Amino acid sequence: MTDIEDLATLAAQFDHRNVRAPSSLEEVVSSGNCMGCGLCESIAGSEFLEMKVLPPKQRMRPVFHKALTPEIAAKALAACPGAQVGGIPGTRASSPYQASGEVAVRARTGWTPSTGLEAFVGKVVSIQKGYASDPETRFKAAAAGGLTTLASHLIDSKQVDFVVHVKACALYSDVSTQGSKLSFSSAEVFEGKGSRYGPVAPLKSLEDALKLNRPFAVVAKPCDINAVRNMAKVDARVDQLCKCLMTLSCGTYADNVCLDKFLTHHDMKHSEVEEFRWRGHGCPGDCPYVRTSDGREAAYDYVDFWFENGKESGPLTYQWRCKMCSDFIGYQADVVVMDCWPKGAPERRKEITDARKHEWDGWVLVIARSERGQAVVDSAKDAGVLTLGPAEGREVLETQPHQARRAASQLIRRMAHGSKYPLTQLEPNAAMRVAKWALDADFVDEVMNTGAPAPTIPDCAEQLRSILPAGEAWAEAILKMPDRHIAYHLDNYKGTLRRLERGDANETYA
Ligand SMILES: Cc1cc2nc3c(=O)[nH]c(=O)nc-3n(C[C@H](O)[C@H](O)[C@H](O)COP(=O)(O)OP(=O)(O)OC[C@H]3O[C@@H](n4cnc5c(N)ncnc54)[C@H](O)[C@@H]3O)c2cc1C
Ligand code: SF4
Ligand code: SF4
Repeated sequence: MTDIEDLATLAAQFDHRNVRAPSSLEEVVSSGNCMGCGLCESIAGSEFLEMKVLPPKQRMRPVFHKALTPEIAAKALAACPGAQVGGIPGTRASSPYQASGEVAVRARTGWTPSTGLEAFVGKVVSIQKGYASDPETRFKAAAAGGLTTLASHLIDSKQVDFVVHVKACALYSDVSTQGSKLSFSSAEVFEGKGSRYGPVAPLKSLEDALKLNRPFAVVAKPCDINAVRNMAKVDARVDQLCKCLMTLSCGTYADNVCLDKFLTHHDMKHSEVEEFRWRGHGCPGDCPYVRTSDGREAAYDYVDFWFENGKESGPLTYQWRCKMCSDFIGYQADVVVMDCWPKGAPERRKEITDARKHEWDGWVLVIARSERGQAVVDSAKDAGVLTLGPAEGREVLETQPHQARRAASQLIRRMAHGSKYPLTQLEPNAAMRVAKWALDADFVDEVMNTGAPAPTIPDCAEQLRSILPAGEAWAEAILKMPDRHIAYHLDNYKGTLRRLERGDANETYA
């Protein structure tokens, strides 16, 4: 093992010893670890609990009708992605802390990233770039129709009978679209296209899917995929029937109140809306686009929605769980499809330059993380439905700088959260990647170059020493980093505590 791997092992073990995982679903919610996947409803059934959109922020959360039986409670907690995050499945190692699996990226691509960057990209069989060959799918989907095409192809080529996913372009007040959508044809898959930047419970119908006893695939966010992987450990049907787990890179989504603000700003009511979408019709398209039944239209630029803090829909608010996410680029999926704008952002629609005009046509990075994921990507490419060419591992960093920033600060943020409240526990393999992100000075440097520099804090080493545990070699290693790194970690620690103190992680519902 290299030094970083030794240190990361110690840091991961420390995290495991010191983080108290939520002991019930209720505690998952109250300590800000729930992201509303809906798996608990699927396991327990709606007589026990139901996913509902709850004020004040209109988040999707379980509402408990009666106490769960001990068996159901144990199964649901074991599967809940707010209680634990997994590592990379299928890796073999003598110690769980050594099972990085990321070495694959070096072997497969010939690229030699630093340890932290390698852990950031994750396990890779191939990285390619491209788009749906069908022009309508490419135009109307979120980015380039990669996920829609892969899902449709799995059905058309009879590799699966149906796909569990969601209807992305729908208002949250349309109650029928707040859970999973089981699509049995490519036409139905197409109806789900787009990115839903608001709450939805993709796994609400997982039990219904399993009961069908037919092969299926899942398309959902990384935390939802985590839930399916957790579920596989307590329910053998998952691995027997689920043939492919596909996901996207996920930055977070906005609370439903942000959409309400947007509609109010344009003097529109939910009941008047006839067409709604978050993305698509070009890449990224409007975010959101709304048309009422009497023909009024409102559209917002993607850049303004996300990067101007949503003046018409803001201030944007998000669930706390996303701040603590350790799985944002789908480390547990078979295939990950993501946007590939340089520096992680498109140009404003009104300001598109000639050099970047082609991006509006739609492009995605497609990472196959497992052999079965690779087989699905190859099969779609061979069938001519996906057009793909080679891409470099480094493009993941260059197009996902916001994710890299979350990565480098994750260990210290976990320390802050864990010092106050129960926190999603990491399996050793996941804890290793989180530790490597923080401990690799080259990676932290790369990350700091992508965003605002850390503030100058004169006595930062002294301050951080008083926060980090004494006598831990990994903590000493962080304290030996350059001052700018120490300030970065300290700043993230303090920022996390500030947010916790103002109550960002506290979620209690009547
Ligand atoms: C909340 C969210 C945050 C994202 N953040 C980033 C980011 O930071 N960086 C990045 O590169 N890409 C991000 N994406 C992914 C990006 O928006 C595109 O989805 C991705 O590039 C794939 O595009 P596509 O054209 O292949 O997808 P499509 O072919 O349009 O297919 C999208 C699929 O995703 C499913 N889906 C949509 N929304 C949700 C949802 N909320 N929950 C579960 N499943 C859903 C749909 O059912 C559909 O099957 C995010 C997506 C979402 C939903
Ligand atoms: S994260 Fe998912 S399974 Fe866990 S409590 Fe929330 S909705 Fe239920
Ligand atoms: S950021 Fe992470 S926790 Fe939040 S929705 Fe995305 S994958 Fe889930």
